[in-house]
Amino acid sequence: MNLVKEKRLKNYIDGGWIAPKDVRYVDVVNPATGESVAEVPMSTKVEVDAAVEFAKQAQRGWAIVPAPQRAEVLYRVGSLMKERKENLSQLLTTENGKVIEEARGEVQEGIDMAFYMAGEGRRLFGQTTPSELKDKFAMSVRAPVGVVGIITPWNFPIAIATWKSFPAIVAGNAVIWKPASETPLMAHELAAIFAEAGLPKGVLNVVFGSGNTVGNAMVEHKDIRVISFTGSNEVGRNIASKCGQLLKKVSLEMGGKNAVIVMDDADLDLAVEGIIWSAFGTSGQRCTACSRVIVHENVKEHLQERLLKEIKRLKIGNGLDEKVRIGPIINKVSLKKINSYIKIGKEEGANLLTGGYVLDEGEHKNGFYYAPTIFTDVSPNMRIAQEEIFGPVVSLIPVKSFVEAIEVNNNVAYGLSSSIFTKDINKVFAAQRDLDTGIVYVNAGTTGAEIHLPFGGTKGTGNGHRDSGVAALDVFTEWKSIYIDY
Ligand code: GLU
Repeated sequence: MNLVKEKRLKNYIDGGWIAPKDVRYVDVVNPATGESVAEVPMSTKVEVDAAVEFAKQAQRGWAIVPAPQRAEVLYRVGSLMKERKENLSQLLTTENGKVIEEARGEVQEGIDMAFYMAGEGRRLFGQTTPSELKDKFAMSVRAPVGVVGIITPWNFPIAIATWKSFPAIVAGNAVIWKPASETPLMAHELAAIFAEAGLPKGVLNVVFGSGNTVGNAMVEHKDIRVISFTGSNEVGRNIASKCGQLLKKVSLEMGGKNAVIVMDDADLDLAVEGIIWSAFGTSGQRCTACSRVIVHENVKEHLQERLLKEIKRLKIGNGLDEKVRIGPIINKVSLKKINSYIKIGKEEGANLLTGGYVLDEGEHKNGFYYAPTIFTDVSPNMRIAQEEIFGPVVSLIPVKSFVEAIEVNNNVAYGLSSSIFTKDINKVFAAQRDLDTGIVYVNAGTTGAEIHLPFGGTKGTGNGHRDSGVAALDVFTEWKSIYIDY
């Protein structure tokens, strides 16, 4: 068992746990209780530079290990995660707040990713191509990029880390990883698991710290050749412009304003289930969370009633309690931001159907809890229907037709996930073609992406590069063309 023994976390550099010198520490707060569960160092450029030097050395050796052997490490990582699934899940709930059943699902996603990517170690296919010339052999192979930087968010602290680090490592790169400071315990545990699984030192390095300092130092470091980032739009755009200047490859996933469309022929039981789960699961703190419901006016009243009834049944509280369905918001800053949208929505003329307040009494006193919230009669251009709120707040937008529904869905700055509930097969096919998002669901909510398919979006969501699935290998490899005369 590795579960964090010391309160003050250390960086993991060149296979050792190292405390940075003369740096500030920040509390890691359990959002369900407000208690500090650890302290995370705010490292500096010094630690990033040191980690990169070790990573460069380690990568040369790692790149010449045959890929199926590199994959063996991932099989062991997957097995260790499986053995520790329950402990990891509890720790994840403690630092992030998500309900335990969702935490188990997230850890399982990491386990699946380990075995899936380990399989890719035997399938890092290249291509042979007939040469134009006689006695010449031509082929292209996937070459590792070198040292790569990954920057991961707090909402999926272990799953998203595995989407990025596993393909990077199996492809023969060395990794510098900056996890979110709110959720460093998962990073600590994953690094410890990699060490136990026999990953050579220096191939994975974890540097804790702020985006401004550590993230920036990574983005600007000349020897980090790829940055893979999941997080806010503002930070992502900043990273993209710096990487553009430095001609550095960048993969961005920066959120969504995802909608569920409910047509008037929809199975409303299914639609209610899909909306509740994808809007309020993880307290709405998913990039894929449903934050708009585009509903046909014929079923609007009925859907509203049904949603209200379901919401009343959701128990809100500490996610370690198996009966709880909605956990806390990650921190006070987010809680305030979410709450600020209630005033905005009301001023814009939307009607608050339910929720719209912070829960801070009784069992909710010390944590950061927000009531599941629904606005009705929202028009598509209101800020509450355009901006990512990243909390349990949904806007119901009535429409008159399928064509209008598609138009409203697409008329936002983001393009991550969308969903439609209908029984009409023609609408199903037209929707999967016309919805301008990277992910489309039919008769299911907007969340629940599977690890073996590409994950990412269009427009403000990202730059077309994808996490997860084999598409992640494109981020962490370069094609190399080889000609052999004989
Ligand atoms: N795995 C999540 C889902 O599809 C999304 C991850 C995210 O929110 O970044 O529900």
